[in-house]
Amino acid sequence: MAIVGGGFAGSILAQIARRLGHRVLLVERERHPRFVIGESSTPVANLLLEELGDRYDLPHLRTLSKWGSWQETHPEIACGIKRGFSFYHHTAGQPWSDTPSRSRQLLVAASPSEAIADTHWYRPDFDAFLFAEAGRLGVDTHESTELEPPHFSGDAVHLRGRGPEGPFHASARLLIDASGPRGFLHRSLGLADATPESHRGTESIFTHFTNVPRWADLHPPAGTPPFPPDDAALHHVWDDGWIWVLRFNNGITSAGFARKRRTNTGNSPASEWHEHLQRFPALAEAFRGSEPIRTFTHLPQLAFRTAQCAGPRWAMLPIAAGFVDPLLSTGFPLTLLGIERLARLLESGIPDDLTTYGDSVLADLDITFDLIGALYRVMPDFDTFRDLTMLYFTAAIHTETLRRLGRPTASNGFLMRAHPDFGPGLRQCLARAGREPGQATREVIQRLIEPFNLAGLASPPKHHWYGCDAADLYAAAPRIPATPDEITAMLHRAGFTS
Ligand SMILES: Cc1cc2nc3c(=O)[nH]c(=O)nc-3n(C[C@H](O)[C@H](O)[C@H](O)COP(=O)(O)OP(=O)(O)OC[C@H]3O[C@@H](n4cnc5c(N)ncnc54)[C@H](O)[C@@H]3O)c2cc1C
Repeated sequence: MAIVGGGFAGSILAQIARRLGHRVLLVERERHPRFVIGESSTPVANLLLEELGDRYDLPHLRTLSKWGSWQETHPEIACGIKRGFSFYHHTAGQPWSDTPSRSRQLLVAASPSEAIADTHWYRPDFDAFLFAEAGRLGVDTHESTELEPPHFSGDAVHLRGRGPEGPFHASARLLIDASGPRGFLHRSLGLADATPESHRGTESIFTHFTNVPRWADLHPPAGTPPFPPDDAALHHVWDDGWIWVLRFNNGITSAGFARKRRTNTGNSPASEWHEHLQRFPALAEAFRGSEPIRTFTHLPQLAFRTAQCAGPRWAMLPIAAGFVDPLLSTGFPLTLLGIERLARLLESGIPDDLTTYGDSVLADLDITFDLIGALYRVMPDFDTFRDLTMLYFTAAIHTETLRRLGRPTASNGFLMRAHPDFGPGLRQCLARAGREPGQATREVIQRLIEPFNLAGLASPPKHHWYGCDAADLYAAAPRIPATPDEITAMLHRAGFTS
């Protein structure tokens, strides 16, 4: 089989296919290490990494799934510690301040300790390591290789192009596109762009910086937060957009915004960035003294969805099929769910029929479009925004817990979209939040999450700071259902210490 695109996803799938005994070709257009955006992982993504590592005998995937084991085994691969998600709501022209009930912030922990914390992947290092690892396992890897459109004939797909040593050609029984959004197959097969109309107006500007101050130094939390707010995917949200701040352990910080597109001013992305910060005094302060270490990238349209993502002898990985927005870091779990699905198919040989795979990928993507779309619509109303994120956190924590208990989750899909009770309720809440944000909708959300809420989310006494508290899980065990002994054993396996 051939895989086009040697990012982390293409390289992991190539390693799995090799372990399953397939002959694998992996073609990358650039040369590692190279810059690529998309860095913040999540508990579900890391659990998938761990499970793929165990199932396919790729132990490095397990060690890279947690901050602690990563630091012990691969300190040479830069990464950042991610203890959870931090959100702060800003109003243009006003300094940032909060109320005693913390009404302008939200902290949701993803782990109880540094040892088993999630990570931000410093992609130049991370992807270079995984690509090299694929080569070490016997994958036929090629860098700096530019391909022409593929040619399908009979039961083979033929690839031609040019590599560093001259003309390149190869044939395979299956072609997987891991080349990212608007990538190789979308273009060369001339597929239709099926990006929902309401998502075509979001742009993004980003780069890597040094010397970014820590938010908690500028605005020390009142009390003891569940985790240091900067050791997180830090989100600064305003009425029609947001900024991410992800800190790595090599002094570099990734930051950028996604926002409703402004009319083209002709300004450079760097001036747009600086001008934007000036509208929000606290954000200007949050980046004072920071220095970009590469040019800013501007994506005039962030979201993308192709019309078809699988066919005879070809399939796209989820990110090649579409991408919505970095909000809530959905890219990695979607990508790894796609890899998991393809890997299961590859266990019984090279699949001919990839229709079911393609349908699942697009359905997962579409519910992500619905979630992010609803979040954008309610950004001016931070209370509703925060409650909407509870749908995401409830589904993510529920899924992670079931997986850790060894219960089946595959049929639920991403965000439990296909769960018979949660799925329809989720869609209803997302549609309703856009139409009528406010108290009534927030109550509907709270009623929906209640039977699935394993982490004490939306609990008023917590005042929007949600730690990882084993007591919440024991209290919610009947909702799974699981016995206290099963919970204890699961927490032990996960390295959780309360
Ligand atoms: C602004 C932004 C921020 C994001 N932030 C996050 C986040 O914080 N968390 C998260 O989970 N997700 C995030 N994502 C999504 C994330 O980037 C993807 O999930 C992730 O990069 C997927 O990895 P990949 O290896 O499949 O694809 P990519 O990282 O896109 O890698 C594709 C590879 O294919 C190569 N390639 C491209 N075309 C060709 C070709 N024709 N031939 C050969 N090779 C080719 C490229 O050089 C590249 O190496 C973000 C995305 C964007 C746009």
